[in-house]
Amino acid sequence: MRTEEHGAIRLQDYRPPDWLIETVELDVSLHPTATTVRAKLKIKPSSSGTPAPLVLDGDELKLASLALDGKPLPAENFVATPDRLTIAQPPNRPFELEIETLVDPTGNTQLMGLYRAGATYCTQCEPEGFRRITYFIDRPNVMAVYTTRIEADRSEAAVLLSNGNLVAQGDVPGTSRHFAVWHDPFPKPSYLFALVGGNLAHVADSFTTHSGRKVALAIYVEPGKEDRCAYAMDSLKRAMRWDETAFGREYDLDIFMIVAVSAFNMGAMENKGLNVFNDKYVLASPTTATDGDYAGIEAVIAHEYFHNWTGDRITCRDWFQLCLKEGLTVFRDQEFTADQRSRAVERISDVRALRSFQFVEDAGPLAHPVRPELYHEINNFYTSTVYDKGAEVVRMIRTLLGPETFRKGMDLYFTRHDGQAATVEQFVQCFADVSHRDFFPQFMRWYSQAGTPDIKVAPHYDSRARSYRLDISQSIPPTPGQPNKEPTVIPLAFGLVGENGADLPLVLDGRPLARGVLELTQASQSFTFTGIAERPIPSLNRGFSAPVKLALPIEPGDLRFLAAHDSDPFNRWQAVQSLAMTLLKANVAAVRAGEPQREDEGLMQALGAILKDAKLEPAFIALTLSPPSDADIAREIGSDVDPDAVFTARRRLRGAIGVRHGATLADTYARMITSEPYRPDAQGAGRRSLKNACLDLLAMTEQDDAIARAFAQYGGADNMTDRMAALETLALHDRPERAAALDDFYRRYADDPLIIDKWLSLQAAIPEPATLDRVRALTKHPAFSDSNPNRIRALIGAFAQVNHTQFNRADGAGYDFVADFVLALDPKNPQVAARLMGAFRSWRALEAVRRARAEAVLRRVAALPTLSRDVHDIVARTLADS
Ligand SMILES: [Zn+2]
Repeated sequence: MRTEEHGAIRLQDYRPPDWLIETVELDVSLHPTATTVRAKLKIKPSSSGTPAPLVLDGDELKLASLALDGKPLPAENFVATPDRLTIAQPPNRPFELEIETLVDPTGNTQLMGLYRAGATYCTQCEPEGFRRITYFIDRPNVMAVYTTRIEADRSEAAVLLSNGNLVAQGDVPGTSRHFAVWHDPFPKPSYLFALVGGNLAHVADSFTTHSGRKVALAIYVEPGKEDRCAYAMDSLKRAMRWDETAFGREYDLDIFMIVAVSAFNMGAMENKGLNVFNDKYVLASPTTATDGDYAGIEAVIAHEYFHNWTGDRITCRDWFQLCLKEGLTVFRDQEFTADQRSRAVERISDVRALRSFQFVEDAGPLAHPVRPELYHEINNFYTSTVYDKGAEVVRMIRTLLGPETFRKGMDLYFTRHDGQAATVEQFVQCFADVSHRDFFPQFMRWYSQAGTPDIKVAPHYDSRARSYRLDISQSIPPTPGQPNKEPTVIPLAFGLVGENGADLPLVLDGRPLARGVLELTQASQSFTFTGIAERPIPSLNRGFSAPVKLALPIEPGDLRFLAAHDSDPFNRWQAVQSLAMTLLKANVAAVRAGEPQREDEGLMQALGAILKDAKLEPAFIALTLSPPSDADIAREIGSDVDPDAVFTARRRLRGAIGVRHGATLADTYARMITSEPYRPDAQGAGRRSLKNACLDLLAMTEQDDAIARAFAQYGGADNMTDRMAALETLALHDRPERAAALDDFYRRYADDPLIIDKWLSLQAAIPEPATLDRVRALTKHPAFSDSNPNRIRALIGAFAQVNHTQFNRADGAGYDFVADFVLALDPKNPQVAARLMGAFRSWRALEAVRRARAEAVLRRVAALPTLSRDVHDIVARTLADS
């Protein structure tokens, strides 16, 4: 194993910049292969004293000319390479540097810096793309005021956009070219710079802020797609209003723009005033987008908008602080969705995702703290840990302090750090200052320690003393580079449920327990509640108040009771999940031992009761009908995992639910059908999710009428949600209806790449041995392109990340296929290649045959000397002995 310490960047080595850049005047003359960028930078020393050399970052840059204070700089006074511009002895005073570089947007396949998405010029600068446009001190705490002039041929780019407000535009006399000048008054780091040029159509609207300012809103799309922007625009306006109400944050420029582009490495980017989006998160209509797509659009539009304050106005001091903007903004978008839709459903959905991705990441070789302390390639740290666990950490601060004090802390953060590049410590200090609580130094371990805490609980009821004691211990398993962990502060929301299903009053040490939250701070501690007249059932970690694994000896009967009565909807759902997980783990072992799988009558009864509970939201019932995911089961098993056995056990359970509750499922399916036209709201989406969950469970019985029902829904659906759900159901059954529906789907939507992505993903996820050949053939299909990240994620990503049985084929062919694809993609787009390689993150937990095959493939990839830094970093860490 080669370990490459060279090039490691460490938090402990942080130094403030020697030079600051106050203003940036960019003049960009767009050309498909030879765009000229003139950058005029006002630079000053950051402190007095001996001037340090000025070192500007670059990446594949070509320097055309260089001038200092208006005079060409003699060649002996600087060194320019594609990735660095060094002036050894700059003047020890403010000065102006004028740099001209030449870039090739069409040849930029990495999609970082200035590139072309189809015919549209666009940029992606986070984290280190600006250095592919011009030489710059490309770090987030160098914040400058930007003025950007863009020039282009009118026929090629009629629309010219950049950050801030439009200050001038016009024709370039005597040519076919025109220009636009944008000025952004807010100092910002280079990663928030954006520029767009193209022949785009737009939809316009406006928003009046809380203080009465009218803000112009515009969404730019390819011409002809304007009618698919309505939901994105509506989501934007709701997000702007919500941020005023929930956090007191008002928008600050005269215009807010969103541009949808077809080729984008990420979901979307929060460039100041000019968000650039993967078109997947903008375009929707009832016949082209599913309820899931609509929910994704609402969440991502809101997320990027919320960054205006948490990311743009207050940015990160350095990339180690990435969670400062991402964890906080994910928390904010989750709260937005909870307020817009259903709080219980949002929480359950978020936790399902957290367990299936972040817990899995935390349990494997790629585990890292929410704030990493070392990286080789920052692109590889846009992870579920930084985003989703980062959001959980913010949520825990709110749980510990209560909503009012939390809001005070946020207000203080916004006033104290506006216009600054901040750190996690500064963020947390705001809450310490408003709350006067002293646990924060210990709480910081959530940011520095990787791994999911294990919480063990032993309950003791003393009927004579009428007291109830919980002995609780916490431990965090070792993770790469972190063999020993210290206890942290864990808020455990908690209730004791009495015989009538109501919560008992909680009196701890003679005082009522504030907000029902226990604060764990020690490796082990005890809590004794008094005045408990009956044996209660504990309901722990309500609302998933802490991202931990909980081990509590609890009778199946008590879980069924909680499933029926817990006042906390999350724990009602969790009780059913716990029953299912116990059964599934036992049945996975049975499958591997060649023994019969067992049934759980209690689980079936709990499901039946929930299915018939008319007071419950349909979306909640649908979530409860879905057993833990394959990834979640595998993670719970922990080692020697056989993905085929996991799949077999889960599938059998779903079939058993279909058989046992067939009549109720069919009845519910019929009840959820409405004659109302499709609307993408939470109620409608909830009804469809329950209807389609019933459809799917019924089909699991393999009965002909159930398959026929799915096929009929496929053909008769008047919206994409129902059509796609039926197709997903059919995809799991090797019947003639499947082939017919897949062919029909392609014929209907062949012209629409975003819809064809669904068709690619669905086929890649079919859990059958023939899938690998099918996926191989689809890579040659005209609908596929290895230069578009959406196509790659749809086909290869779905195969590697979703299809646990076929990616983990016992013969290793799934691993070889993905690795070969990654190696072919790596020279073109290392960032997307590295993401795909992340599919190997759980290889050590597999049974011996698969483990050996995965390791051989990983070593084959690691041995190649030409790997990008992105892929090398992932493979090296995946293979490293922890
Ligand atoms: Zn973000």
